[in-house]
Amino acid sequence: QQLDLGARWSEGFARLGPAFFTALPPQPLPAPYLVGLNEGLARALGLDPALLASADGVRALAASQPVAGTRTMATVYSGHQFGVWAGQLGDGRALLLGELDTPAGPQELQFKGSGRTPYSRMGDGRAVLRSSIREYLGSEAMQGLGIPTTRGLSVVGSDAPVRREEVETAAVVVRTAPSFIRFGHFEHFASRDQLGELRQLADYVIERFYPQCLSTDRFGGNPYAALLEQVSERTAALVAQWQAVGFCHGVMNTDNMSILGLTIDYGPFQFLDAFDPGHICNHSDEAGRYAYNRQPNVAYWNVFCLGQALYPLIDSEETTLAALESYKQVFPRELEARMRAKLGLADAHEADRGLIEGVLQLLAKDRVDYTIFWRRLSQHVAGGPVDPVRDLFLDRQGFDAWLSDYHRRLPAEREPAGLAMLGANPKYVLRNHLGELAIRRAREKDFGGVRDLLQVLHAPFDDHPAHEAMAGFPPDWASNIEISCSS
Ligand code: AMP
Ligand code: MG
Ligand code: MG
Repeated sequence: QQLDLGARWSEGFARLGPAFFTALPPQPLPAPYLVGLNEGLARALGLDPALLASADGVRALAASQPVAGTRTMATVYSGHQFGVWAGQLGDGRALLLGELDTPAGPQELQFKGSGRTPYSRMGDGRAVLRSSIREYLGSEAMQGLGIPTTRGLSVVGSDAPVRREEVETAAVVVRTAPSFIRFGHFEHFASRDQLGELRQLADYVIERFYPQCLSTDRFGGNPYAALLEQVSERTAALVAQWQAVGFCHGVMNTDNMSILGLTIDYGPFQFLDAFDPGHICNHSDEAGRYAYNRQPNVAYWNVFCLGQALYPLIDSEETTLAALESYKQVFPRELEARMRAKLGLADAHEADRGLIEGVLQLLAKDRVDYTIFWRRLSQHVAGGPVDPVRDLFLDRQGFDAWLSDYHRRLPAEREPAGLAMLGANPKYVLRNHLGELAIRRAREKDFGGVRDLLQVLHAPFDDHPAHEAMAGFPPDWASNIEISCSS
């Protein structure tokens, strides 16, 4: 029996044909219960939250009851993992349901954790409750911050055991995005010399998401070079936002890079507590390839891989490299703009770069809490006392010297900076320990922590008096949380 969500589905990705996916049913999640439902997103998609929260709805979100109008399929992609070609990778545990017609345009819906697929390799096709909650909250935290991301619609859990380092329990996330196509989808067909499919995929992406590439006069009118340039720019702008907010992705493999420049695949990600430029959030990443301060270079490495995959369609090394150049232009420009916004500086001045460099050096030297520093600085500029900011530093002299330079710069602004800063520097980010506390409660079947965090993270620049503690320093145990690729 099928559940009708009262929505219209269309084929979308499935139009590409069988070379791109394997259609298969999900494996039902036994006795599912609702852990989190993103009602705002449900409504934005034109879905009825009450229906989704009903017994039938929860079974549908658990992939335990078919949804009318959908056909589930695992798409196929390959990729580079930790800098090494890894061959075919996925979808090992995700299934696309199809494309939903929504008031905000077509959106793909995916189950994650709905069982084995032909691409599961050694995996069980499942996802654990812990990492499913992290994905759900992580994507919605990014959404609240205004950073491009896939979305989290729901998490359902089950008491079915899943073996990782320890025995945990299973969960299914439903996530949405205009498209889940990754760089790895292109690498897959390029690596197999399937140039027809490669071109078909590129044409699909261009037609659906980058139609301006069809009428470009750049690159001798080659739409694939224009696509590469657009994706490079979006990726650069995305990573600039990550750096500015202190987000560490943790597994920037090419199969975890969205062709739309969205944050995708929430694994061992972390929002920085103390500002440590070399911070490694993924305990499986021994060499620190994906350390916070390496993300900008790794993202370039990744768009370079996309360039190699698209090269047969561009057919000129010079043009391919020229299309990739945009990353190097856009990233520093976007980062500077984001950092200037954090300082409340609307206009660009020559001296701003020095102010940005200077404050980051001070933060790194004293390992100051990144989010709290920026928020307290905003409050100070908005008229509050300086001590709460100053007290964060051991090097008070250094801080005072920087602050006086900053105070000399501020009057050049046309608008008072404080208010803008409170809208640019979040009070709340999804720190590891906040996620961990919500996960612990959820394991006891108390989902209030997940619900509260979702609400706060959807409005991270606002005050939430009932949740003041979520804006505080992390407890000592936070630095002992170990998050690896195991999820
Ligand atoms: P990730 O490091 O999360 O990007 O995962 C790499 C690939 O492994 C993904 O493309 C997944 O398809 C696959 N994968 C991860 N975990 C599992 C699992 N439990 N079962 C099957 N496939 C998995
Ligand atoms: Mg992945
Ligand atoms: Mg993953």
